Amino acid sequence: MSRKYYQEEYETMPRDKIRELQSKRLVEQFKYVYDNVEYYRNRCKEAGVTPDDIKSIDDLDKIPFTCKDDLRATYPYGLFAVPRKEVVRIHASSGTTGKQIVVGYTKGDLDIWDDCAARQLVAVGADEDDIVQDAYGYGLFTGGFGIHGGATKLGCQVIPISSGNTQRQITFMQDLKSTVLCCTPSYAAYLGETLKEMGLTPKDIYLKAGIFGAEPWTEEMRRDIEKSLGLKAYDIYGLTEVLGPGVAFECSEQAGMHVNEDHFIIETIDPKTGKRLPDGEKGELVFTALTKKAFPLMRFRTKDIGVLNVEKCKCGRTFVRMSKPMGRTDDMLIIRGVNVFPSQIEEVLLKQGYAPNYQIIVGRENNTDTFEVKVEMTPEKFSDVIAEVKAQETKLENALLTILQIKAKVTLVAPKTIERSEGKAKRVIDTRKLHG
Ligand code: ADP
Ligand code: ZN
Repeated sequence: MSRKYYQEEYETMPRDKIRELQSKRLVEQFKYVYDNVEYYRNRCKEAGVTPDDIKSIDDLDKIPFTCKDDLRATYPYGLFAVPRKEVVRIHASSGTTGKQIVVGYTKGDLDIWDDCAARQLVAVGADEDDIVQDAYGYGLFTGGFGIHGGATKLGCQVIPISSGNTQRQITFMQDLKSTVLCCTPSYAAYLGETLKEMGLTPKDIYLKAGIFGAEPWTEEMRRDIEKSLGLKAYDIYGLTEVLGPGVAFECSEQAGMHVNEDHFIIETIDPKTGKRLPDGEKGELVFTALTKKAFPLMRFRTKDIGVLNVEKCKCGRTFVRMSKPMGRTDDMLIIRGVNVFPSQIEEVLLKQGYAPNYQIIVGRENNTDTFEVKVEMTPEKFSDVIAEVKAQETKLENALLTILQIKAKVTLVAPKTIERSEGKAKRVIDTRKLHG
């Protein structure tokens, strides 16, 4: 019988005690960040807030926000709160203009991350007997390493296969008898289809649970994946700026993701006014890291829209549950698990000598995202020789791949054929219907 919780003391702590713990940690952490991050200290000074003003969690809304632009402005090390040599790991994700943002971890931070990820694994029923096939991308992306650390700490056998090489994934599922699969939901769906194409059924593999996140997915997709791979599928939420996978995790109830509240405070705010909203009202999710040391963000605005539920969960955990993200307040797209900003695409086009007349078309076929960029040729670049057009398309595809890290299909069209709009240009056509 596997254990029910990884750290029961925290996961089932009465809510008033959680609040007390958060309050104490917030006061200490605010002072720590104020003292150690000059950029943020200046932000606080502008807002007229000092550590003396933050006496308990009731003062939370006096604390200035941090947002992605702050990470860009301080790239690479400007928001780090420890000396460089205490940083033992760097991860990165894309910024809005193609510039990476980087985050870092101390040994202690990695330990916290491992715990958060281990809680997720235990919540899906995993223990030392399990074989975890970690098919999230390894590298600067937090997915692969995040799950890896939690699974190792829990004592599972980890297969660090990373994403891709789909047939080998299935072969390993059969030969090594993996019991838990971790990857993006779209890759899980693709693996399910491949299994079928290979003439196999879920009976030929041993998976019992899947931990799928890093991008939006629907309940319908969940059921499809569960059927095609013969497992129970769980959602996991995270973001590079805050931690990576394991900020919030789903339990056996599959009804919202428990936020690891001993390490993070979550709030919902009105994205327009920045005012805090009561629990249960839909708003932008904001996180404060309470225990991280290398890259401790205060009130980080995620731009994800969601709702919080503080009702006690049937699983016994008391941590607040966040809904699946229901959309974003910015124009970031998540395509095959990778963050893509239209501005990154525009920048590439301009650099390559095109005008900003383009359309991004995202869809989903067989549970995999399709990604096309339609670009108008300029009169100077215009050609009706097929080979020339093809060569131009390939050149653009390569330039986009370098910046975005995923492949887009580029289609060049004749000048003046993309519809001009009178208001805001409709540059993105996304037919995926990801939010239920
Ligand atoms: P990750 O490694 O989790 O992909 P990124 O920083 O690249 O981290 O992207 C974070 C964003 O991914 C979040 O702000 C959110 O929009 C999206 N995301 C992460 N997990 C989920 C999830 N389970 N469901 C929907 N969207 C998610
Ligand atoms: Zn629960």
